Amino acid sequence: MKLVFFGAPGAGKGTIAKILFDEKKIVHISTGDLFREAIKNMTELGQKVSSILEKGELVPDELTIALVEERTKKPDCAKGYILDGFPRTMVQAERWEEIDPIDTAVYFDIDDELVRKRLSGRRMCPKCGAIYNIFFSQPKKEGLCDNDGETLFIRKDDGLETINNRLSVYHGQTEPLLGFYKNLNKEIAIDASVSADESYKQIKGKLGL
Ligand code: AMP
Repeated sequence: MKLVFFGAPGAGKGTIAKILFDEKKIVHISTGDLFREAIKNMTELGQKVSSILEKGELVPDELTIALVEERTKKPDCAKGYILDGFPRTMVQAERWEEIDPIDTAVYFDIDDELVRKRLSGRRMCPKCGAIYNIFFSQPKKEGLCDNDGETLFIRKDDGLETINNRLSVYHGQTEPLLGFYKNLNKEIAIDASVSADESYKQIKGKLGL
């Protein structure tokens, strides 16, 4: 099963994709994670994209498409994958339909105010990737991961100015994907303003998993 998760930043795409991986072993590919990993490891790609991510802008299409193509060719993707945060532009979406057509695009429907709260409150574990929120889902001990006790961090692009920029990039460049996938009859929508468990139930129901 080849899935695309799209919707505003902070809609819970990554969280749900992680649950789907844990429960159904569907490989989770997050372009944001791949870029952050490259930045952390100071690779050539990381150096190219670091300032783009910090500002909340988009990495050029060709670079992004090539990265996803390389990743999906790995043997663990033979039975499918979830693309989380890709495609994000019409060029990427159209191109990907030529490269490896997807089965279903899941649209995470959420309003901007909730996104701002989710992103500005988000805290992440550098070791296991667990995601917390100081407003909605605090760790048991403040600032520390429940799984491994690591000190949680705030993503560089979760500052308010960058959040607003990411939202306007989202509305301008990514929202049109809704019409694109609707026309292809590949789109399903879920209410992403509810808890991760609730969103997950909706997705499972709609995908018949
Ligand atoms: P995310 O973790 O999905 O919010 O992505 C973090 C950042 O990575 C975005 O703000 C962009 O700068 C970059 N990025 C992730 N996915 C894409 C994509 N499909 N196209 C262009 N840039 C991307």
